[in-house]
Amino acid sequence: MANPYAYDAVVIGSGPNGLAAAITIAQSGRSVVVYEAQSTLGGGVRSANLTAPGFIHDICSAVYPLAIGSPFFRALPLGKHGLEWIQPPAPLAHPLDDDTVIMLEHSVDATCENLGVDGEAYRKLMGWLVDQWDGLDSDILAPPRLPQRPLSLARFGLRAMRSGRRLAENVFAGQRARALFAGLTAHSMLPLEYAGSAAFGLVLGVTAHALGWPIARGGAQKLTDALASYLQQLGGEIVVNKCITALDELPSCRAVLCDLTPRQLVNIAGNRLSPRYRRSLQRYRYGMGAFKMDWALSAPVPWTVAQCARAATVHLGGTLDEIAFSERAAWSGDHADKPSCSSCSPRFSTIHGLRRQSTRCGPIATSPTAPGSI
Ligand SMILES: Cc1cc2nc3c(=O)[nH]c(=O)nc-3n(C[C@H](O)[C@H](O)[C@H](O)COP(=O)(O)OP(=O)(O)OC[C@H]3O[C@@H](n4cnc5c(N)ncnc54)[C@H](O)[C@@H]3O)c2cc1C
Repeated sequence: MANPYAYDAVVIGSGPNGLAAAITIAQSGRSVVVYEAQSTLGGGVRSANLTAPGFIHDICSAVYPLAIGSPFFRALPLGKHGLEWIQPPAPLAHPLDDDTVIMLEHSVDATCENLGVDGEAYRKLMGWLVDQWDGLDSDILAPPRLPQRPLSLARFGLRAMRSGRRLAENVFAGQRARALFAGLTAHSMLPLEYAGSAAFGLVLGVTAHALGWPIARGGAQKLTDALASYLQQLGGEIVVNKCITALDELPSCRAVLCDLTPRQLVNIAGNRLSPRYRRSLQRYRYGMGAFKMDWALSAPVPWTVAQCARAATVHLGGTLDEIAFSERAAWSGDHADKPSCSSCSPRFSTIHGLRRQSTRCGPIATSPTAPGSI
């Protein structure tokens, strides 16, 4: 019988999740089309010339330990579609006000060496996870299901379910290791006192050791372009400059997948959703915002502590207490005087000696009524 539908599936939004969904559908031999509102694909994984000629900046995300380590992405032939990962000399630097720096190195041992009294505690926290990451990653990153390594997952879970602050304070005695862990945990965009926030610090820390801190050569857009190219090779279609405002605009299809935020989904799906589900989407509280600034530089950043230049990311947040204060302030709708910042310098991927730098100050309180004030 002829297929009565124009497509088996329509995907709205071409962020990495939308493209991954479309690829999965296309891999199963089904027809799929992706609609993207912007003129370029990728959502938070895009690059553009934002400053001086010849400088390509990542518009949003820039460093991808969880992409290189994703069991799904790993299974895709993205290298054949132009993606090349490069690793910086060190994943992360965390300078403190006393003009010292804590370096998160690729190796656990080298990291322990600059943690003073907490070297052994760090090894105990991270070492076994790094050793078991290859295998345990599928249990940790997958949706809830029967785990393949239940004991290791439970061991991870007992630590991950705690708040970042509590884990750092219980495990580490000194400021240095606590600050390092706080900086990693702050990527959760949750107050450091929240249960479960430790999971982010643990996963980012372990991936930095087990997988590195990879940047796509040529910018984040290369990851999106590789996903899009593979999708098209599989027969998937992509339409840009098409902002879907209602599901009725879509061609006939068996399934619609929305790579959207809760309120965007309510706007598009309207009364096709049950009242209860619609209400829960409308009640969804968005998290903290982030402010990002891009620079084109004529020379390397003159860090007070030269070691910082070896790292792709520099956490500028200070001690655990300072980072926790900054996160808490934004969570409650205030602005911290000293917001914790993450400075990313993907110059390792540039050519002709050009340098680019972006600094993400986050979190900040979102202020929908006065965006210009941020
Ligand atoms: C400042 C910042 C820095 C970050 N840095 C990192 C990092 O270094 N590493 C990392 O791994 N993650 C990082 N992230 C997170 C990462 O960017 C997101 O996790 C990722 O982009 C989410 O992908 P997604 O596919 O779910 O959605 P998105 O990337 O948001 O994509 C959604 C897409 O849907 C499109 N769309 C929306 N509405 C419509 C419509 N009505 N019709 C058609 N299309 C529509 C949008 O234009 C967009 O392209 C960062 C996030 C921020 C904010």
